[in-house]
Amino acid sequence: MFKRRSPYRERKASSGVPVVALLLFLALSGAVVWFFMKDLTGPSVVMDPPHSGRMGVSQVVRLSMDDKSGIRSVTVTVRRGDKSMVVLKDKFSKMEPHREAQFSLKDTQLPEGAFELEIKVQDGSFDGFGFGNTTTLRLAEVLDAHPPQIAVKSWPQVVRRGGAGMIAYTVSEEVASTGVKLGGTLFPSFRNGNGYVCLFPFPFGMKPGEFFPEVMARDLAGNVTSSRLPIRAANRTFRADTLRIPESFLNFKAAELAQICPEKSTPLEQYLCANSKERLTDDAKLIEVAMEKGNVSPLFLWNGRFLQLPKSAVKARYGDLRTYVDDARQKIDEQTHMGLDLASVARADVPASQSGRVVWTGYLGIHGNMILIDHGMGLMTQYSHLSEIGVRPGDAVQAGQIIGKTGTTGLAGGDHLHFGVLIWGYPVEPLEWLDPKWIKNNITDRVSAPL
Ligand SMILES: [Zn+2]
Repeated sequence: MFKRRSPYRERKASSGVPVVALLLFLALSGAVVWFFMKDLTGPSVVMDPPHSGRMGVSQVVRLSMDDKSGIRSVTVTVRRGDKSMVVLKDKFSKMEPHREAQFSLKDTQLPEGAFELEIKVQDGSFDGFGFGNTTTLRLAEVLDAHPPQIAVKSWPQVVRRGGAGMIAYTVSEEVASTGVKLGGTLFPSFRNGNGYVCLFPFPFGMKPGEFFPEVMARDLAGNVTSSRLPIRAANRTFRADTLRIPESFLNFKAAELAQICPEKSTPLEQYLCANSKERLTDDAKLIEVAMEKGNVSPLFLWNGRFLQLPKSAVKARYGDLRTYVDDARQKIDEQTHMGLDLASVARADVPASQSGRVVWTGYLGIHGNMILIDHGMGLMTQYSHLSEIGVRPGDAVQAGQIIGKTGTTGLAGGDHLHFGVLIWGYPVEPLEWLDPKWIKNNITDRVSAPL
C-alpha cells in the first residue's frame, strides 16, 4: 500500500538537519581555530655564539628571540654557589614578535670556573594567568679568561711579493676560529695532525711595507690571541711589456666585447671597459668562488709538482706590467698580468695541472671560457681563454687529465692558455708551483712534518 508522507515531517527533515550540522560545524571550526591560534609555547631563543660550555669575560652574547605573541621580557642571571647576579633585564612595552638583546660577564667579577647561566624569556600571550609562556634555559658554563697559546712550529723566512706562504702551528686548546690575518682578511687554517697549517698569499697589490701577517686563534670562550709572524716580505721587480691592440683585433673581438660591455658604443671603448671594469668584477668573482662554502677541500688533494701545458712557450708572466698601445703607438691602457700565458698549437689539449676537484666552469668576462680546480686548503688553478670545456663542477680530476682545449675566448689575441694559481681567489706567482724544490721546502715538508 502506498503511504503518503506528511508534508510537515518532510519540511522538518529538510531544514532541521542542516541547522544542526551548521552549528556543529561552527563549534568545531571555532575549537580548531582556538586550538591552533592559542599560543601554548614559550619564545624560541637563539644564542650567538651558540652555547659551547665556555664563556669569556669580555665575550658579548647576542640573543635572538621570537614568538608569535610578541616578546614581553628577557632576564639573564648568573649563578655560582648561593650567589646570583642579573646581567640583563629588559621589559618591552610593545609586544613585537622578534627582539634582540645582548649581555656579557664583564661587570660580574665572576672568578674562573663553573657557573650556571639562566636565560628567561616571556612571551606576550595571556597564558599562565596572564603572565605569558616562559622559555627558561639553564646552561652549565665555565668561565675561561685565558686566551689560547699559539706555538708556530715552522714558517717561511721570506715570502716574495705575489708569492705564497704556509705556516704550521699548534694551539693550546680547542678553537672557534684560527688562521692568518693579513690586511683585514682572515685566511683560514686547516687541521693537520695535532696542529694546523695555513696557506696564505702575499697579494700582488700589497706593498712589502704593508705585509704583516699575524697568526690568530679564538677559543670557544671568545678569547683571542694574535701574534705577528717573523716573516720577511721581499719585494721583486716585475717585467714591463707593451701590447699592441690593432684595429683588426678590435674588429675580430667586436661581438664578444659588445657582450662584455654593452653600455659602451665603440669596440675600443668596449675593450677598455672590459680591460678595467670587467677585470675588477672578474677578480672579485674568483675570491667569491674560493670563499663559497664547500668549494675548498680541508685537505690537499694532490702531491708532487704542478704541470705546465705540454710543449708550450711562456708568452707572458705573472706580474708583467702591460702597456696597451693602439695602431698609432699611443698608450690606451695599463694593466698587470696575473698568470702565465702559455702557447702551444691552436686548440691544444689542456691537462689539469694537478689532481683536484672542479669548482667552477663557464664564461667569465676577460677570461672567456674558464675552469677553476680546487686542490685543497684554499689553493686553486685557473685555466682561461678555452675554446672547449670538458669537465663540470664537482668532477674529480687527476693530474694530467684533459679538461679542455686552448682558444681565444675573452681578452685573448692569439690561441693560448692563461694559467693562474690562486690562493683563496688571490692570483699568486705560478712559477713557484711549477718548481718542485720550492713546493717541497715551502709547502709539502711543512704539511708532512709531525707536530
Ligand atoms: Zn693571460
